[in-house]
This record gives sequence, C-alpha cells and structure tokens, in this order.
Amino acid sequence: MAGGAAIEGAVGCHAGVDEMRKAAAAAGKTETLDRYAADYPVGPHDQPQSMCPAFGSLRVGLRMRRTATVLSGSACCVYGLTFTSHFYGARRSVGYVPFNSETLVTGKLFEDIHEAVFKLADPALHDAVVIINLCVPTASGVPLQLLPKTINDVRVIGIDVPGFGVPTHAEAKDVLAGAMLAYARNEAEQGPVQAPRGGKSDKPTVTLLGEMFPADPIGIGMMLEPLGLAAGPVVPTREWRELYAALDCAVVAAIHPFYTASLREFETAGRPIVGSAPVGVDGTAAWLDAIGAACGVAADKVDAVKAKMLPAIKGALAANPVRGRITVSGYEGSELLVARLLIESGAEVPYVGTACPRTRWSESDRAWLEAKGVKVQYRASLEQDIAAVDAYAPDLAIGTTPVVQHAKQQGIPALYFTNLISARPLMGVAGAGSLAVVVNTAMANKARFDAMTELFRGVGAGDTAGVHEDVPKARPEFREKVRRQLAAQAKKRKAEEMI
Ligand code: SF4
Repeated sequence: MAGGAAIEGAVGCHAGVDEMRKAAAAAGKTETLDRYAADYPVGPHDQPQSMCPAFGSLRVGLRMRRTATVLSGSACCVYGLTFTSHFYGARRSVGYVPFNSETLVTGKLFEDIHEAVFKLADPALHDAVVIINLCVPTASGVPLQLLPKTINDVRVIGIDVPGFGVPTHAEAKDVLAGAMLAYARNEAEQGPVQAPRGGKSDKPTVTLLGEMFPADPIGIGMMLEPLGLAAGPVVPTREWRELYAALDCAVVAAIHPFYTASLREFETAGRPIVGSAPVGVDGTAAWLDAIGAACGVAADKVDAVKAKMLPAIKGALAANPVRGRITVSGYEGSELLVARLLIESGAEVPYVGTACPRTRWSESDRAWLEAKGVKVQYRASLEQDIAAVDAYAPDLAIGTTPVVQHAKQQGIPALYFTNLISARPLMGVAGAGSLAVVVNTAMANKARFDAMTELFRGVGAGDTAGVHEDVPKARPEFREKVRRQLAAQAKKRKAEEMI
C-alpha cells in the first residue's frame, strides 16, 4: 500500500505481512509487537482494509501545539501520509528523515534520526518531538527506544506504528496518546507539573477519551455541571499540559472504546473508567448513572439531571425523525453510538460494522443494539460491509469510501461516515436530531439515483468501460435515450418553475 492511502490485505510495502513481522522480531521488536497484538486483537476476522494506520498517530501529533512530528519510513509512505494530513487540514509541517538501503542497514538512519531530533528539540518552540517508525524501519529494528527521553527539556517520544502490527489508524491514535500519557504520568509522579492553560478545575473532572465533534464536550459539560462535575480534557489532547489534567480526573469516559493503551495508563493512575456515551435517551440515562456511581454523586442528584435531560433528548429525537433502513460501517470507533442514535430517531438499522475491535468499553452498546436485532460486526472487513449493503438493500448506506461507492453503483444513497457523520454532535440534546437532516436529505435523493442509474445503464462495463479491444460500435440508440431523458428533465424543471 505504498503511498500511504490504503492498506490492502494487510500487506506492508512489498513484502508479505508475515515476512515483515519475522524481520521485526529478528530485529528486536518482539516486545512491541506482542504488546500491540494484545492491545489490538485482530480476530476473529482478518485485519480490516483501512488507510495506513500510521495516519492516526501522525494526526494526533500534528494536532498538538508545540509538538514536532517526524516520520521515518519509505518515501512513498511518507508522501501518502503527508498528502492525507494536508488533505485533512494539518497546519503543521510533517518532518521526515529519509533513508536508503545503505543508511538502513548500517545504522546511519538511526544517527540521522538522532540528529534530526536534536535539531528540533528547541524548548522555545516545542514541548515534545514525536518520531514515528513506519513499516520498514520497524521491521528493520531502528531502535527509537535508544533516543534520549529529553533533550533541552523537550520530551522525545519514539513509537513504532507498522501496518503489520497496528490494525487501524484509530488504534494508532491510541499508540501515540498512550505513549504520551505514560510519559506525562511519569513526570507527574516525579513532582509538580504545569497546570492547564485555563487553570485547574475547581470541580472533579471527567476526562473524555476519543476525538469528537467540538460541541460534544460542551454539551457533556452542561450535563455534568448540576452533578458537581466538569468536563475535563479530550484525549488525544491538543497540548502537552492537558495530559496532566487528563490524568488528574475523577473518572475517564471511554467515549471511543478502543483506546486500550491510554486506558491502561489511566488505570495505572487509579482512575475509574466508564464505557459507552451519553447518546439518545437510553444511552444518556445509563451513562449519567455510571458517571454518578463512579464519582460518588448522590442518586437523587443524578435523577434530577435525568429528569431534565431525558425529556429534552426525547423531544429532539421526536422532532427530527428518521424513517428508513440504514446500514452503518466505519473505522472511527463511534459506529455503535451512531447506530444507537439512528435507532432512537426511528430508523431501522440491521447492520453495524466497525473496523475496531470488541472491547469491554462498548459492551453495553453492543448488548443494546443486539437486543434491537442489529448485527454488530467488529473488525468488519470491506467484504462484510459490502455484503451487508447487498443483503439488507438499505435506503441509505453510511460507510467508508469503497462502501459508499458500492452502494451508489447500486443506486442506493450513501454517506461517507468520516466526513459527514463524524463531523456532527452525537451527545446529549445537541446530538439528538443532529443526524436527521443529513440522513433524511440523502435518503430523499433516491429518485435522483434512480434517474442516474437509468441514464448510465450499460455504461462503464463491458465494451463501454473505456477499454476497447475492437473498434467501438456506434450506439445511436443510447444517444437517443440520453437526448430523450435530458429533454424530459428540462421539461419537468420548466413545469416546476411555473408552479
Ligand atoms: S507505513 Fe506500512 S502500512 Fe503505511 S503505507 Fe507504508 S507500507 Fe503501508
């Protein structure tokens, strides 16, 4: 999957995944790979097809203030990762330490990385320098763990994020977030650390784990306020000092359930963890109960908040109904939450596929969905997601790019999960009803899809695919069909304008 855009069949560069793993083990990376295998289990299905996992770590680094993020890997991977980062609006430079086979095998690459890290470690500019080993340097055993932990008071975080060890880009976010939390926890154990930019909260806080729409932490904060609690930082954080505040919480809300390494750090720091999220009526009620119990809030206080919030959520859901059958698939880790919200909005959701693994932190979501007859597929492959679209013939398919493409080819309206669903609030009152407009608008486009399907029927396959082994035949009947349809559409438009 050179180019960093997609990981097809879990093959790292041009070698097979087993070869890469063997090479990495021989090069001293066994401990790291074993930890990833335990944290990010791939079974019962194979590794899902997704973008290059390292993108997750890169994105977390690039979104942090005063943090330099450097890649060590093949130029084609770095090109793809850099392109994708800027496509998604990174406003920072991506560092790169290039190599060739000679610098790789002689150890000069490690010296080059060492030099690059020293040059970047300027405390006036940076709190941390992150260096990410991609597939080839990991398989070759480039020993980032031998880098100094601190240079000129700038922290140095070296991580291996190979496509043959970390299954998805979602979990790669956890690799870096977990490494940073471990570092910050160690600092906090040694002595006083920086307070958050806005000062320390005067209330016990709830750290929110998982990237979410910016309005969600605000909505969660409003729900927590009457409980005498406050929303803490969102992890992955946007600044180093937020890591200390995140660790200094009363409870961690594992909104995204796959942050295994990060959760290990919170557990080591003695923080309780609550799974699922305040989505819809049932999800919000259960979440408030769990947060209240974890923080020792009196039950009547929790009940009072529920009495206020739940009718408001119910009202918002009723005012924004969704009618139709929808399949959901994605690789963000919030797929089960989205499905819950759609079902409470009135939609029929027969299938949810997520590229992320099953963990205990999404168990209540899985149980809730399965009780409603939903097929929940963890570590879903592209084939499983596509098979679900074919089997359930939904009115709308929410999914990854290839799932969306497949659905549209069948004339089924489809929405890209990452750009169109993840970019909306899901929690509390603001989340209830937030999906309805985009989902209903997409489903209402069915007639347009049917017209397009009819217009292009027979085009793009066989001798109309653009690959001609013989001289193409003229098809006057197709030209005539297009002419008739365009004339009919123009007539319809004119009639509508006159109404
Ligand atoms: S780093 Fe590995 S997974 Fe990522 S694009 Fe390169 S070969 Fe593929």
